[in-house]
Amino acid sequence: MKGDFETLEKRLGVSRRDFLKYCTGIAASLGLSTSDAIAMAEAVAKPKKRPVVIWLHGQECTGPTESLLRSEHPTLDRLILEMVSLEYHQTLDSGAGHKVEHMKELSMKENAGKYLLVVEGAIPTKDGGVYCKIAGTTMLDHTIEAAEHAAAIIAFGSCASWGGVQSASPNPTGAQGAQSVLPGKTVVNIPGCPPNPYNFLATVMHFLTFGTLPELDNQNRPKFAYGRLIHENCERRPHFDAGRFAKEFGDEGHKKGYCLYKLGCKGPETHANCPAVEFNDIGGGTWPIGVGHPCFGCAEEGVGFTKPLFSLADVKTHTPPNQFPTIEQREETSGMTAGAAAVGGAAIGAIVGAAAVASKKLGSSESSDSQE
Ligand code: SF4
Repeated sequence: MKGDFETLEKRLGVSRRDFLKYCTGIAASLGLSTSDAIAMAEAVAKPKKRPVVIWLHGQECTGPTESLLRSEHPTLDRLILEMVSLEYHQTLDSGAGHKVEHMKELSMKENAGKYLLVVEGAIPTKDGGVYCKIAGTTMLDHTIEAAEHAAAIIAFGSCASWGGVQSASPNPTGAQGAQSVLPGKTVVNIPGCPPNPYNFLATVMHFLTFGTLPELDNQNRPKFAYGRLIHENCERRPHFDAGRFAKEFGDEGHKKGYCLYKLGCKGPETHANCPAVEFNDIGGGTWPIGVGHPCFGCAEEGVGFTKPLFSLADVKTHTPPNQFPTIEQREETSGMTAGAAAVGGAAIGAIVGAAAVASKKLGSSESSDSQE
């Protein structure tokens, strides 16, 4: 294996140590052990095991591919290209035209039953799917044809998972996700707008190493990435629990990094690992809530592109209590600093919050609107 790692080091431009650390991080996010991380590193280092990937683009903005190309340590696109043999990708292919389409047909034929199909973008189904055509063939037909002999199918991004923004009412093109047009097939959904590239990488590494897909939830999303609500791991959650909210962009609460629930944050009803993995880089990057923008629920079907940004989220756990004084009132009456008020607020929050939970006041837009 030493030789494999040395070659990989040269190809990726990262040290063996850093690469192993990276694989350990990916394995940890999948809930796997250190020995599994080593198995993953070995699978990537062995170039002959590279599975063929056919990557289709439907109705979309190419956000998933763009997101994938903008990651680092090691550069994710290089790592993906080391792991797989990307034989058809409309954005990254340097060639174009009939020859490329012919190569795709050839590749699917030669690798029948072994290739990985990635679908990016929604699939229009109205009027026979005429609203998205590639090389004279509808995206609908491309998807059905490529799925027939695929070893596994991944829908990368919200559009491919359930239709995304293209399927928003009135959905003039009848846009749908891959699983809707492929009845009887298992499609792994990795939603998000854009989806997190590390969730894609971890899924592919799992497939490459063990020959199986990671455990999926009832919407076919990998559990390791979509098993928790954003609200459960959000860095602003202590502010939510203590009743400290930004109410307008740029107001005092917003400047202080308070909870964005009242600005329409959909974290309480959106399942994704954004707070843990972040974007642009593992743990060292950024994410919408981290920079002061409410989550708009892009990863959750029925929330993103469906509920207006300004509407309050359906809180799955409990609603913050109504009885909190405003930030200004708290500071005026107590004469405390913001930090001290935070501690005081947390204590009050615990007491009042417990009462609110006990009285089973579950979240509703009406009750939430009247808070603070
Ligand atoms: Fe974070 Fe949004 Fe939940 Fe507030 S409502 S704690 S900003 S996820």
